[in-house]
Amino acid sequence: MENFYDSYGRRIRYIRLSVTDRCNFRCRYCMPMTGIKWIPHEAIMRYEELLRMIRICASRGVDKIRVTGGEPLVRKDIVMFLEKLRYIDGINDVSLTTNGFFLDHLARDIRSAGITRINISLDTLDREKFVYITGVDGFGRVVKGIMRALESGFDPVKINVVTMRGFNDDEFVDFAELTLNLDIEVRFIELMPIGPGLEMGKQDIITKAEVRSLIEQAYGPLESLPPGVGPASVFKIRGAKGRLGFIAPMSDHTFCSRCNRIRITADGHMKPCLFADKTLDLLTPMREGISDEELESLIERGIKNKPESYMALGDAKPGDLIMSSIGG
Ligand code: SAM
Ligand code: SF4
Repeated sequence: MENFYDSYGRRIRYIRLSVTDRCNFRCRYCMPMTGIKWIPHEAIMRYEELLRMIRICASRGVDKIRVTGGEPLVRKDIVMFLEKLRYIDGINDVSLTTNGFFLDHLARDIRSAGITRINISLDTLDREKFVYITGVDGFGRVVKGIMRALESGFDPVKINVVTMRGFNDDEFVDFAELTLNLDIEVRFIELMPIGPGLEMGKQDIITKAEVRSLIEQAYGPLESLPPGVGPASVFKIRGAKGRLGFIAPMSDHTFCSRCNRIRITADGHMKPCLFADKTLDLLTPMREGISDEELESLIERGIKNKPESYMALGDAKPGDLIMSSIGG
């Protein structure tokens, strides 16, 4: 069967799958303190529906899934779902992005379910600042979660740090220091102007170049490592065990030409580009009894609508969208 290609010849092989819009944190750049208007339970894709859709995509060459949210680990029976996903024919890489709060309990089971790659979000190494940014006194639990992930044999363990001026710019060197002795990848991510990040982004964005320069002032020139398939450029401090990644959606637009991903929201809408406000409803037709062949054509049509680059979207930028609903 032919692989999925978009209109610009990019082969689509990677799905970021949001399994819930719910979250136990309220990160200031992601979700308002009061929460959001939750998607009603009946409008959230059921596991069987997600699995059906992924099976169809796998038959057209999708081989990599990242499960995200909201917070994926708040969804009931998530470990069972991850295991089923992992064993779909053709899917050879299932990874997870989590806030780490439940990992102390779940890391081993998730690893036993066949998941090897995990990204854990942590924007500060200071307990009080953690409470400020997430709204939850959970720093200790997240650190335990990270240690549990390392003990459980996840490889790689990546730590996502959203860079914010005046909040964590005094900590980048400390984050980098963690890589000296821990086999982790600390990834600095530029704050994106989405949802509450829109307001913060006006003054708080710190570019990858600034972060790199701060780290180089402390540790000298970083060694460049071969890039992976994703958007990160990867480096290491000379002699360090771990790595440093930089994701620069705001200051570097060159990734779009290599983008091989689509997103599926928790309510079953395909988003061909994170920054596009247009989505394609897959769930309604599925519930109305669409056949597998029709669903496959629908997905293919959505993929053909992937924009060449988010820069091409002009004003159609999704300031009013919420990362937790689209799966960051
Ligand atoms: N709850 C999980 C977590 O926090 O890892 C998964 C979902 S969260 C939406 C995925 C990633 O998106 C996190 O690393 C988070 O820091 C990042 N994120 C959310 N809003 C963002 C924004 N406005 N700019 C940059 N990154 C953002
Ligand atoms: Fe929740 Fe993740 Fe958004 Fe924070 S970034 S509010 S943990 S979904």
